[in-house]
Formats: sequence, structure tokens, C-alpha cells
Amino acid sequence: MKVTFPHLGSMYIFCKAIAEEAGIPYVLPPPTRDRTRELGEFHTNESVCLPLKIILGNFIEALEAGADTIVMVGSGPPCRLGLYDRTIKVILSDLGYDFRWLTIPGIFNWQAFLQNHDETRELRKELTPSNFLRFPRAVMIGWRKMRWCEHLEDQAARKRAVAQNPLEVERWLQSGLAALDQARSLPAISKVCRQALAGLAQIREHGRRPLKVMMVGEVYTVMEPTINMNIEQRLGHLGVEVKRSSYFSSHIRRGSRLDRGLLKERRQLMELAVPYLNYDVGAECNFSVAEMVLAKNMDYDGVVHVYPFSCMPETTAASVLSTATTELGIPVLSLPLDRKDMGLRLDTQIEAFVDIMQMKRSGDLH
Ligand code: SF4
Repeated sequence: MKVTFPHLGSMYIFCKAIAEEAGIPYVLPPPTRDRTRELGEFHTNESVCLPLKIILGNFIEALEAGADTIVMVGSGPPCRLGLYDRTIKVILSDLGYDFRWLTIPGIFNWQAFLQNHDETRELRKELTPSNFLRFPRAVMIGWRKMRWCEHLEDQAARKRAVAQNPLEVERWLQSGLAALDQARSLPAISKVCRQALAGLAQIREHGRRPLKVMMVGEVYTVMEPTINMNIEQRLGHLGVEVKRSSYFSSHIRRGSRLDRGLLKERRQLMELAVPYLNYDVGAECNFSVAEMVLAKNMDYDGVVHVYPFSCMPETTAASVLSTATTELGIPVLSLPLDRKDMGLRLDTQIEAFVDIMQMKRSGDLH
């Protein structure tokens, strides 16, 4: 058995750590690149959403590298993510790949358990008692790595906006993530991350107060720099601090329904969106709207809304945000993303958006 999983943002560090620590053979798909996207685009039609294309490309590259078991996260309706597993399975089978499939449910309930029962029964036969014994520690190490990854990325987003040389931030972040990926124990994880944080802290600052934006939108687009075209970096290099709305750990905790604090937060967010949306559209739509209200309440300078072209829930959110921007008086930049050659256009849009936020802050724009 050789397990593989999507190469989504820094989430692969979490999945890789679990496989490594539990002694389960795995194949890490290459980082998402042009070929990944092209493979996904070639084997789907244009109406399919971008994350599906990228994940399909990840899996094709992993299967080419010898993987035979795919682990994928699932979701419920109405978002198309709930159909990704079935759609990708059919496409890969039509392409002649031989593989097994395991869906990690978006919500851990009895229905999800029964749905996965047959697949897990087959896979269990190939796991040894040692794999099972090592699994709890593996999950703990993976979880700790994921939380540190997210903390490092969050701190890098703060520092990028105020650094005299933002490229130093990228160097510390990349070396910190690489060291974190290699660390094999909890003390080693803490040590390498503290070193990376110390490295970020000693970067010289220019002393100007940065603009602050909340990045909201579709979860894959928010988390995967290849999909969002490195928007965090692009904004950071223009002196804008970006706060991300989505982290993989919060999605897991919401899905597990074990974290009462997060469930309460979820309810509160849904309530914040009610003046603009009084029913649950699905996926992140209501959260995008709620986080815009939150950004206004927290005195952010703007909201960047990123989503794949043809994403139904976020297209709905975009129209709501365009109404709410006037009412709330907070600038919004909505970016439907699809083509990989959008870089220059994106830079122009971002620069104009930064100018608007600066004018608003200085009182030249109402
Ligand atoms: S939220 Fe949008 S882009 Fe993401 S899976 Fe659903 S439809 Fe596709």
C-alpha cells in the first residue's frame, strides 16, 4: 500500500507526518505546479471548479509516482466538494489507473462511518498492529505540526507588511516550514519553530503602520498559494497585513464537532451574516459574508474575497459583498480566479485596491 493525498497549502506536512510516524508508506505528490493544473484542466471540462482540477492533477502525479491508495477529504451538499470523490474516482478509472480510495468525511457522524466502512475494512487488512499502535502519536505529531505551520504563516503575514525587506520573511518562513517538516518529535518541532519565529522577529521594520485586510472566500483558494496566485505575498510586499479566514485545523475542528468553542463561533458567524443572508447557502458563503462584517467590526481596512471561477457558493457571496461594501463602508476586492496567466492583471487590481484603502484611511475617500 502507498497512500497519497492532495498537496494543499502546507497541509501536506500534516498528512505526511501522520503517514511517516505511523509507518504507513506514502507518496507525496509534487508541489502544485503548471503541469498539475494542466493535467486537471485537460481531463475535466471548463465548468468544473479549479480546486477539483488541481486535486485531480495532484492525484495523477502521485499515481504516476507509484501511489495506489488515495485519501481525500469529503463534504456534504450543496457544495460540489461533496461530489469530488465520486467525480475524481470516475475520471481516474476512465484514465485506466488502478487505485483504492478512502474519503475522510467532512463531518464525523454515523452516516460517514457507514459510508466508509467497506473501504476501511479493505485497507485495515494491509495495516500491521504496529501501524495502529503508532497512529495516536502520529496524529498528535501531525496536529502539532499543522498548528505550528499555521502560526508561522500567520506571523509571516504580519511581518511581511512591516519588513524593510519582505524577501527575508519568505526565506525564514520557507526554512522554518522545511525544518518543521523534517522534525520528528514534539520538542524538535517546538525548537525549529521557535528558531523560525526568532528569525522573523529580528527582521528590521520600516516603522509605518500597515494596512490590514481580511482574506475570505473558498477554502482551497484561501489556503493554496498556487490557486490564489500568492495573493498573501503580493499584498504583503505592498505593505498590507493579511489575516486569513481559513485554516485547515479550524475546518477539522468544526468537522469533528468536538470543539464546543468553535461550534459556538460558527453559530455566531452565521448570525453575523443574517442581515445579508438569512439561509445557509453552503460551503464558505455565509462565512465570507460574516467575516466581512467581522472585519468591519475589527477596524480592518478592507476585505479580499478570493474564489474559483464558477464556484456557486462564493459567486453568491460576491454579490452579497458588493451590496454590503456600501452599507458597511469597507472596501472589498472580489477576485474570481481561474487562469494561471492572471498575474499582471492581479497586480494592477491589488495596487488600485491598496490606493483606495490608503485614501480611505487618510480620510480622502468616504
Ligand atoms: S466551494 Fe466552490 S470551488 Fe470549492 S468545491 Fe464548492 S463549488 Fe467548488
